[in-house]
Formats: sequence, C-alpha cells, structure tokens
Amino acid sequence: MLEALALDGRIGYHCLVAAGMQDSHFDAVIVGSGFGGSVMAYRLAEAGLEVCLLERGKTYPPGSFPRSPREMATNFWDPSEGHYGLYDLWSFNGIEALVASGLGGGSLIYANVLLRKDPNWFVTEDLERGGYEHWPVTRADLDPHYDRVEAMIKPQRYPAEHPPYDTTPKTREFAAAAERLGMKADLPPLAVTFANDERPPVPGEPIEEDKPNLHGAPRYTCRLVGECDIGCNIGAKNTLDFNYLSAAKRAGAELLTEAEVRSFEPLDGGGFRVGYVTHPEREEHALSAKRLVLSAGTLGSTFLLLKNRSAFPRLSPRLGTRFCGNGDLLTFAVNTGEPADAERGPVITSAIRYSDELDSDGAVGRGFYIEDAGVPAFVPWLVQSSDAPGALRRAAMVAWRVLRQRLVGDPQSNLSAEAAGILGDGDFSGRFLPLLGMGRDIPDGTMTLTKRGYLDVDWRTRKSGPYFDRLRAESRRLAQALGAEKLVDNPLWLLRRVITVHPLGGCPMGRTPEEGVVDAYGRVFGCPGLHIADGSVMPGPVGPNPSFTIAALANRFADAIVEEQAAVAGARGARPTTEPGRPLPRATEPAAVTGREGSCAVSFTEEMKGFVSFGEQDFDLGYRAGRETRTALMFHLTITADDVEKFIEDREHEGVAEGWVHCDALGGRLPVERGVFNLLVDVGQEGERRKRMLYRLHFSDGSGHPLTLAGHKVIEDDPGFDLWRDTTTLFTRVLRGHVGAVAAEEPEVVASGIIHIHGADFARQLITFRTDPPGRLDALGRFGALFAGDLWDVYGPTGEERSR
Ligand SMILES: Cc1cc2nc3c(=O)[nH]c(=O)nc-3n(C[C@H](O)[C@H](O)[C@H](O)COP(=O)(O)OP(=O)(O)OC[C@H]3O[C@@H](n4cnc5c(N)ncnc54)[C@H](O)[C@@H]3O)c2cc1C
Ligand code: SF4
Repeated sequence: MLEALALDGRIGYHCLVAAGMQDSHFDAVIVGSGFGGSVMAYRLAEAGLEVCLLERGKTYPPGSFPRSPREMATNFWDPSEGHYGLYDLWSFNGIEALVASGLGGGSLIYANVLLRKDPNWFVTEDLERGGYEHWPVTRADLDPHYDRVEAMIKPQRYPAEHPPYDTTPKTREFAAAAERLGMKADLPPLAVTFANDERPPVPGEPIEEDKPNLHGAPRYTCRLVGECDIGCNIGAKNTLDFNYLSAAKRAGAELLTEAEVRSFEPLDGGGFRVGYVTHPEREEHALSAKRLVLSAGTLGSTFLLLKNRSAFPRLSPRLGTRFCGNGDLLTFAVNTGEPADAERGPVITSAIRYSDELDSDGAVGRGFYIEDAGVPAFVPWLVQSSDAPGALRRAAMVAWRVLRQRLVGDPQSNLSAEAAGILGDGDFSGRFLPLLGMGRDIPDGTMTLTKRGYLDVDWRTRKSGPYFDRLRAESRRLAQALGAEKLVDNPLWLLRRVITVHPLGGCPMGRTPEEGVVDAYGRVFGCPGLHIADGSVMPGPVGPNPSFTIAALANRFADAIVEEQAAVAGARGARPTTEPGRPLPRATEPAAVTGREGSCAVSFTEEMKGFVSFGEQDFDLGYRAGRETRTALMFHLTITADDVEKFIEDREHEGVAEGWVHCDALGGRLPVERGVFNLLVDVGQEGERRKRMLYRLHFSDGSGHPLTLAGHKVIEDDPGFDLWRDTTTLFTRVLRGHVGAVAAEEPEVVASGIIHIHGADFARQLITFRTDPPGRLDALGRFGALFAGDLWDVYGPTGEERSR
C-alpha cells in the first residue's frame, strides 16, 4: 500500500479520497511536517489519537531530489507561478529567510546538526525592564525530551578518526585552525547514518532499518558527496520522513501531502474547522478536529495565525513578536592555505563554540557557534563571492532586486520566483570555505501582514550590531587561522541584511498572554484546543542550530496533550464557544423613492480612520495600543436613510450602509456585506439629551471568517460637551461572527479601538449629502440638524450645494 502510494508521489491524499474520508473529523489535525509537526504526529498517533497531518509540499523519496541547474531553477515553492518545489525563499526588511516545503520540512535540506541549547542560554530577562527574551523552560526541563528525540533520529558524529573520513580536508583544516586559535572544534551529532549499529563506518553500505520506511525505499550510508542541503539522494540523512513520519504512519496517522492549509476557525461546540487546498488542482477541502496543532514553521504558522486571527478574539497581542534569525551570518574564507575541498563530506562536520557572557568564564558579549559549511549548499551557491564574475554578478542581482524591492516598497516578500530566474550553474573553487555563524542575536523583529495580505517581517541588524561585530571579527580570525587571504561577506551584508536559514519567533512562549502567544506547553492562550509546535514558539534565539530544540519542545508539548487527553478520557467534546449572535435583521431597502407621498431619502458618504488593537476590550486602550503597532482600521461608507421623516419620528429606524472596511491585519480592503446604522437613538433619561449613532457592518476577513464592525458615537447635546469630538469619534469594536443588534449571547470581541473623521474629511463629507427627490432642503435641513447638530450650521452644505 505504502509503496503504491509513494509511487504516486502523494502520500495519503488518494487514500483519503478513495476511502471517502475527505471532510472527516480527527482527534488532531497537524499543519506542517517539519520538526514540530513530525514529532507531534508520531507522539499523538502513538498515544491512540486519530491524527491527520497536512503538508503543503511533495514527498521526496531517495533519488527524487532535483540536481540539474535546469531542475533547480524551478525547485521553488511559489504556487502562484506554478512552482511546487523544495525551497521557499523570503525577503523582508533587513533579512532574507530560506525554509523548505516537503514531507519532512526543513530536515530535507538541513545540514543535519543536532545540538542542544546551552543551559545558560535559556535566559530569563526582565521584559518589563527592557529585556528581550524570557524562556519559560530550562535545559533541565528539556533534557529528557532531547533524549527521546535523539533515540528516534539516531544521530552519529562524523567519524573523523576512521579512514577514509580522516582525510576530509575541511574537517581537518577546521580543527587545525581552531587549535591555532587555542580553541577546540567539536564534531557535533549529525542526523546522518555513517555506520550500521556498532559496525565500523563504511561509505555507501545499505542501511539496516528495523522497520520499512514510508517510501519503501532502500537507504545507504553517507557517501560524503556534500549535497545535504539540496536533498540526500541516497537516503543517508536521517530525515524526518525516515523516522518520525514513518513511525506516525505506522501508528495510524494520515499524512496528506500537497495539501496547503489556508484557513481555520473554532467550531461552536468545540473543535476546529480546517480549510485547505490541494496542489496543483487548487481544489478546496475542509476537515474538522478536536485539536489543531500549527507546525507550519516560524513563517508559516505566524502567517496563518495573522491571517486567521479574527477567528480567535482572545489571541495574545504578542502575536508576531520576538522574531529573529538565530544570529545567522554566512561569510567565506577565500583562498585558504590548504584546499578545504568544501564539497567533500556532509555539509557541516564541525563546530566551534564561542562563550557568552552568561557563561561566566570571562567572555564578553553574546555567544555563538561557527561551523564549517560545505557546498553545493543552496545559500552559498546563491551568494558566493570569490573570483567567479558570473556568480558575483548573480549575487549582485539578488542584492539589487532586494534593494529595489525595499525602495519601491513592493509588498510581495516571497522571492522564490526571482531566485528561480537568476540561478546559474554554480562553480566552486576548492580553496574556499563557507563559515556559518549563528548565536544569540536580539529577537526584536515583528511580523505583520502587508496591505495586500502578504507576510512582512521587520527585523534590523541595528540592536544586534555588537553581536554581529563580534561574530565577524571571530570569523575573520578563523579565516586567518585557515591561512585564507581574506574573509568575504555575503553580498547582502553590504546592505546590512542577513540571510537566515533559522527564522524563529512570532508566536513566542510566555508565562502569561501579556508575555507570549503560547504557554510553556505550546497551548495557545485563550484558545482551548489550539496548539503551536515549531520554531515560531521560540521567545528568542536558540543559539546553536535550532531543530533539536524545536523537536524537544514539540515532544514536551505532545506529552501535555497526551496527559490532558488521558485526564479527560471519557469526556466528550469541548466547551461550546460563544454563539455568534442572532442574524442581523434585514435592513430597510435603500429605496431612493419609497412611493410615499412627501417622503424623501437622504444619502451621504462617510470615511473614518483610526486604530484598533486585537484582543482588547477597552476602546481607548485599544486605540493607543493600535497606534503603537500601526494596526490601522478605516471604513468608507455610503449611508442612505430611505425616509427622513421616519428617522425623525422613529429613532430606531435603520438606514443602509454600503462600502468597505479596510484593515491590513484583517486582510486588506473588505466589502461590507450588509450594513445598517441608526441615527441618534435616545439613551439617556428624559431630559438628558444623550444620543448615540450606531453602526453595524457585516463583512468577512481575508480568510473568509465572518466579522461585524460595531461602532457608536455618543452625542451629548448639553452645553459644555464637545460636540465636535462627539460627532466625529466612533468607538469601534470588531466582533466575531455576523452579529445582530440583539445577540443571544455576549459576542466575542476580536479588536477594539477608536476611529475618527478628520476636519477636512468632515467638511468634504457634508457636501456629499444628497436628497432624493433632489432639492428637498427641508428634509436635508432636518436630517442635518439631527446628524451634526450645531455643526451642521458651520460645516453644512451651502444653499446651492443643498439644492443639488
Ligand atoms: C539550508 C538549511 C540548513 C539547515 N541546517 C540546519 C542544521 O544543520 N541544524 C538545525 O538544527 N537546523 C538547520 N536548519 C534549520 C531547520 O531546517 C529549521 O530550524 C527547522 O526545519 C524548523 O522546524 P519547524 O518545525 O519549525 O518548521 P519546518 O521544518 O520549516 O516545517 C514546516 C513545514 O510546514 C509546511 N507548511 C508551511 N505552511 C503550510 C501550510 N499552510 N499548510 C501545510 N503545510 C505548511 C512546510 O512545507 C514545512 O514542511 C537548516 C535550514 C536550512 C534551510
Ligand atoms: S554527504 Fe551526501 S550522502 Fe552524506 S548525508 Fe549529505 S548528501 Fe547524503
């Protein structure tokens, strides 16, 4: 069965279709199959939960990874351009990021290093006093989980003592250079099989597996061909498809590939609906689940949550914070004393650790690692400097395009298609060695949505400057110790930009919702049943390569779910979520002419702009916080009162509001599906003269979740009150669902804030007033006096304008 499915290249999908299981219900749906998702899928399936994992990319059995420059040129993830390949390359403010798409996530292209996060680097800074990160877990908490992951992935160190591995030039040269500096290069655990069990390592020997892998494909021990970052075609890498995902499949998990999740929302009565599209057909499907685990990676999970945040009104306002690139900095030691022969051996074999001041061993500054990086790794290929003019030109082109994007403000940050177009054939000299540095940069980046609904990351090198200066200085010393003529920065560094292969943060762990999006067990604050397990939950840089820590945390998070599940065994369903409220009563038809003798319609156009904050109930606090985070919201409405007299006689009478709401954080410009307003409803005791103007707009966010904008202006007619401010200030809430004026239950508040009409806009608005039939000055005057009170006299239309 598995072999047959693997031949088709789409595991799970046909199985589900054939079994008529689409649109089914699961105990847990997991989005993404990287380190977080794979560990979760196995652990939950092993515990007896019905699990479905959705992965947007393809499966890559050994032998299927593209190799020719032609194939590589389209090996990018960019469905809008018809590319469904392995690399997903992003360009943001100050940083580029490379991630993977495929069953196994980043493990398919990673350099196999599995290092534990240093015990002292689980920092607990005081965030109230300007600190940047606070880890709610310790190394001691994670050690048992590291152990368990290690037992599954079975890493081995590079057997540098054994022939023929002992002659690997870069490993030897790197170790010698470290020694010259009085340091030590370690051989970190690598997720690569060099040897079968206790037997001596032999290149190219069949790997003996306890159980068949999900591809049903043979694997061979490492042949030292240095292609780990472009996919190991002989199956020597212990990628997640060979261990966690194969075990998950055996435990009964459904693994759907080429299934990209686009939307999700809580269901009334508990659980979630998850909407996804299949590629390349772009068919839309949906599943439901009791629990939803987001493991789409730092960029993927944060993007999905930002897109769907309106469905989760209690989500922490920390969403999108604490982004960093794990201090990645790629440099090149050029013209080394001895040939480093960077293409021989796995991509990384060795690592030198530079202490942090937290280690209390006299070091000054933030700590990091420098590792030998092999070729043909994708990133060095893209940006290689050295003597090759063609490569320089191509790298300069990338740099220029990135710069141009910044200058013209092109909001589309996914560069995959661009890169596909400019890749050439890489040629490599034997006397250079890429040096990959990574460590404790400052997680001060933020992730938001652009006007067009793309992901945007704002992260600059400024605050991390001293860290990068130290890392570059040590990289230069290491290059000198390698006998290199010079250390060359990757060209993007000239623009003070870095490329990261380790993006982290966006949904950070925290002790409270004020501090993080998830708790120390990956549970999303305020959203029962929603979990996140991937690089996005890191509250700061890991320091060394992060996959092992992501996997260990996912194992800890899985424990919490399994324990919770056991505790509630027998109990069915979750607590019902809030009823979205009664449907809005049909508004009066916007009749221009009602046919009633003497009746008259009035219409005008109104635009109001301001700020809101997600998860906030208080209007004023929401406005202030939204202004800080630039979460702008506006509407543009044409309002029609079909019969002025009715408005005056019956203050509950509704007018119709048509137009759009614009909020980038909700998905851009969003048409109003149905809108009503009530003009001046008496709300005070007799004689108090306190009125409200009520607005109620039904619309949907960019992912299709129904929302209501409920706004009110409070007008105090008494002398001394600020009529101008009253008339132009709308206290605004975005509510979950299409909520009627009278809701059966308290609606859930997605965001709150205040929007205003500015002076010039107000004057412009007043000259948009029209009557139907035209020229009914009497009706317009009566309506205007109600709408704007004394302001009408100051700003209202002139006689000539009124008569139009
Ligand atoms: C060239 C390179 C070398 C690296 N080397 C190392 C190394 O040696 N050691 C190390 O520790 N780390 C390394 N890394 C980093 C490592 O790959 C990542 O840190 C790790 O994979 C992150 O795990 P994750 O679970 O957060 O997400 P990922 O592994 O990125 O997995 C996320 C998955 O979700 C899928 N997805 C995204 N959106 C959706 C959606 N909407 N619907 C369905 N599926 C979706 C993606 O296709 C992907 O498969 C390297 C990375 C690169 C690029
Ligand atoms: S060096 Fe070659 S054979 Fe070894 S793991 Fe990397 S790609 Fe596979």
